Amino acid sequence: MKENKVILISVDGMRPDGFLSCKNPYINQMMCNSYYTLEGQTVLPPVTLPCFMSLFHSVTPQRHGITTNTYLPMARPLPGLFEQLKNGGKVCAMYYGWEPLRDVARPGSLRYAGYIHSYAEESSDTVLADSAIARIRKDRPDFVFLYMVETDQKGGHDHGWMTEAYLHRISVAVDNIRRVIEEFGEEYTIVVTADHGGHDRCHGADIPEDTTIPMFYFGKQFQAGKQFSGGTILDIAPTIAKIMGVMPADEWEGTALI
Ligand SMILES: [Zn+2]
Repeated sequence: MKENKVILISVDGMRPDGFLSCKNPYINQMMCNSYYTLEGQTVLPPVTLPCFMSLFHSVTPQRHGITTNTYLPMARPLPGLFEQLKNGGKVCAMYYGWEPLRDVARPGSLRYAGYIHSYAEESSDTVLADSAIARIRKDRPDFVFLYMVETDQKGGHDHGWMTEAYLHRISVAVDNIRRVIEEFGEEYTIVVTADHGGHDRCHGADIPEDTTIPMFYFGKQFQAGKQFSGGTILDIAPTIAKIMGVMPADEWEGTALI
């Protein structure tokens, strides 16, 4: 298979029904143009850092040991997606609006990174997307991770999941996703997902509102407009590694979708 470049976009706390309710007209094109699920499963607890450690290391929190938003070195370390890609000769970039996320990539595995505190700008998500887009235009990194946090912080926690404020933040995120897909969708495979959902003004419970996530795969290897079932957040790293022609780590437990 031809090796491809990948952009991974994660919208923090984006519930599938929030996605469907956000009234952004581009959501229909996202479903028509991707291989997708609205019934994907994240890990327990559905909390940001444990979920992203699982996304990038393709193991559950029981295995990587990070069960809160405080990072701890793993007792039994295993390589994550960034390290695996770096070792495979790939150039990686990461743009993020929540500082603890820096720990999902070990030092030495990133060529480019951008961080901005989410409350430093009216829309830090849009500023980060601008930075990522400018870097992709200039240097075409092999793998780009764009993480947008405002749906969770300025939507869910500040106002409540499924409120107008929360849905508005999803719609802004979808506008940013649209810009990335429209400019780079031919050259890059693009993966869009969330880390967890939420309810009331929190998340972390073993209930469908918190544990169900959407996943969209846009690219020539994927059947556009087809909905799949049974996907978990552990499948994302093996799938991206395979798209990029890099071996998965032996310890990874998820399954590549292609
Ligand atoms: Zn949160």
